[in-house]
Amino acid sequence: MKKAKDIMTSNKVVHAVLGLAGLLALIAVVLVVYRHVSSDVIDNNSEFKSLVIVESGDTLSKLLIDQGFTNSDVLQIAKVLKSDADITSLRADSDKLEFVRADETAPVSKIVVIPSPWRQIELTCTETGEWQCKTVDVERDTRAVYKAGEILDGDSFYLAGMRAGIPAGILAEVYDLLAFEMDFERDVRAGQKFSVLYEENFSNGEKIDNGRVLAVEFEALRGNVKMYRFKKADGKSGYYDENGNGAIKSLKRTPINNAKVTSSFSNSRKHPVLGYTRAHKGVDFRASTGTPIPAAGAGRVVARSYNRGHGNYVKIRHNGSYETLYAHMSRFAKGVVVGTTVKQGQTIGYVGSTGLSTGPHLHYEIIKDGKHVNPMTVKLPAISNLGKEDKARFLEYRKAIDAGIERLSKNPDWFIQL
Ligand SMILES: [Zn+2]
Repeated sequence: MKKAKDIMTSNKVVHAVLGLAGLLALIAVVLVVYRHVSSDVIDNNSEFKSLVIVESGDTLSKLLIDQGFTNSDVLQIAKVLKSDADITSLRADSDKLEFVRADETAPVSKIVVIPSPWRQIELTCTETGEWQCKTVDVERDTRAVYKAGEILDGDSFYLAGMRAGIPAGILAEVYDLLAFEMDFERDVRAGQKFSVLYEENFSNGEKIDNGRVLAVEFEALRGNVKMYRFKKADGKSGYYDENGNGAIKSLKRTPINNAKVTSSFSNSRKHPVLGYTRAHKGVDFRASTGTPIPAAGAGRVVARSYNRGHGNYVKIRHNGSYETLYAHMSRFAKGVVVGTTVKQGQTIGYVGSTGLSTGPHLHYEIIKDGKHVNPMTVKLPAISNLGKEDKARFLEYRKAIDAGIERLSKNPDWFIQL
């Protein structure tokens, strides 16, 4: 909060911010610096306001009756809220209600339902005693802030990030963004530097929450990883590397192209060999013996072994969250051992029928955070690339962002007004 105030009261800094915003003009940014002047609303001090935070067990009618409303008022208010604001129930520990009275003892003249910091529903009573409802979007002032850190001896990325002042939610997003590029348990070394540019949302000069990650950089073992969030002409946003290539590497749901699914993921199915019902924690793809099995994503081999159920199998760890497993192989690919780093698409073994299997097929599993998930339905980060025009725009945008970062890195208290 203090930082925001300092910035707004210092002309020198506001000018620097303006300069940055000018650089970003090509991405259609609006200067809020002007808006601060015009949007000041003076509160009517004679009103009496009380704020209620919805708690577990609270209902709209209970809260309204507590404020002195009659049952028929309650019914009418609930009806208007449903039809005009699509609100049918209140969420505990999240929604807030504000009651406005002319003075402390007067009846409530206005109710403000606050389901999010950015949306308010105002209910007012007309002279004829009817309740009317109006939705107000709260004006959002978004600023890009920059934080940089360095991994120290014995550090985790999380610790180093917290020390750099990056909020936990933003760190978690950065982690997810980088997770297909690096293994945070094994690839993190002392001396590595990282930085993130992210949004902070303000309302009336007060910070409300954090927004999205706009750019991230990490000095990874296999070279610098840089990602920029960019909005394409079609309105869709994604993360791209310095050259405008889709930055998020994902996993393939079907490692073998065009292979037919012969058995899907299920928490209970009759096992074809064992005869009794048990969970099928993967997907089976029909393929003939000897068909190469490609790695579903880049990663490191963490198991290459045999067991009674899976037969010959390989397990790959892709990052802190995802692992994949490939079973019933007839044989392993040459050079694939525990510890081998594999690329997406690299052959790791060949289809077979070893273990508990009725015929040649690939049994494929995706394990997310230690739990088996359905490879066909699990939400995976999308890979997207830019078309020619978007790419040209992206490169301009990237230059502006890089220039902004350059200045912010020297002036850590500054921000970019978006
Ligand atoms: Zn299977």
